[in-house]
Amino acid sequence: MRVAAIGVGQAGGRIAELFSYHSLYGKMARNTCPAALAINTSEADLNMLKTIPKEDQLLIGVSQARGHGVGLVREMAATIARDSLPTIMREIARKDLHYIDAFWLVAGLGGGTGSGSIPVIARRLKETYQQPVYAIGVLPTRDEGTVMAQNAAAALAELHSTVDGTLVFDNDVWRTEGQRLEHAYDHMNHELVRPFPMLLTAGEASPNMVGIKVVDASDVIATWKDVAVIGYWGIHVDALEHGGPFLQGLPFFKKRGVERIRATLACSTVIRNAATKMSGEWNPGEAGYALMILAGRREHISMDGYSEARSWLQSTMPNAEIRAGDYPLRGARELSAVLLVGGIHSIPRLGVNLEEKR
Ligand code: GDP
Repeated sequence: MRVAAIGVGQAGGRIAELFSYHSLYGKMARNTCPAALAINTSEADLNMLKTIPKEDQLLIGVSQARGHGVGLVREMAATIARDSLPTIMREIARKDLHYIDAFWLVAGLGGGTGSGSIPVIARRLKETYQQPVYAIGVLPTRDEGTVMAQNAAAALAELHSTVDGTLVFDNDVWRTEGQRLEHAYDHMNHELVRPFPMLLTAGEASPNMVGIKVVDASDVIATWKDVAVIGYWGIHVDALEHGGPFLQGLPFFKKRGVERIRATLACSTVIRNAATKMSGEWNPGEAGYALMILAGRREHISMDGYSEARSWLQSTMPNAEIRAGDYPLRGARELSAVLLVGGIHSIPRLGVNLEEKR
């Protein structure tokens, strides 16, 4: 799956930049994000970006914000974005859009520029192009105050009526106790982006490494609906392959038996663990859709473990349509799982309760 990542505001630009970085230099997600753009009302924030080149950075609202941003005033950002739509759309159109399967609009929903602008840009993208439009929104922490919480709630409601789905990353869940939030951003952004290379590449397996059940862009599109969350877990190959003292004394045939049981257990554990580490708070009973992907060396992917995990997901999310796939990867350093859950419509912490949009 290939996407155009459009990062708006400070958080949006930084996160879009990471998608671009993986696409340019990553081992797994090469060429998955052929188009990346950063848009901001703050010149200083744009100057901080390293991977998205100057020609793909767009400073908007210079006459109103004078390059200094809009603070937390998302209405001002919405007006600026509306006035700047011709320029924004021209910049987007410069990209090779016929290569992409979806647009990703990324922003911190509690702030001003990204929060106010992405619903405006999303609406115009939906009117203009056929590809689905998704939002990836960072939620503010409880400590960041009521204005940020209100901004996030307003942005989620506007996005809900416009985009195909909004994936949330809750800073409150991911911050480290005792560490200043600004110091934690790098680590948090890394964690946010971590599941995406596999999500984007799973359907692009080379012909000689096709999984038993292949996931493709249509599975992602069918799952990422309403509000969505994503999780990732990996078990290093060393932990899978070193039998330890327990296995060393066993005869060969018993060793094989134990290894098979261990592979089954590893596959079901890695998915259960991913479910414990989702990008935001969620209620499994509410989930409408789920997609699980199990990836790793072919010899580490146990179809018994895969089936067991799938049944567990179904019992945990009784109302969800479950999709699943495996992704064999030669020489992988981890057995890993990605879990995407969609069809969520409430975020109690922010008092958000969206209409179900099935
Ligand atoms: P904007 O520049 O006006 O769009 O506002 P920001 O992008 O700074 O949005 C503010 C919200 O985003 C707050 O909740 C911040 O904690 C959060 N935020 C800002 N930068 C980052 C970042 O790099 N990573 C993460 N995870 N959150 C960020």
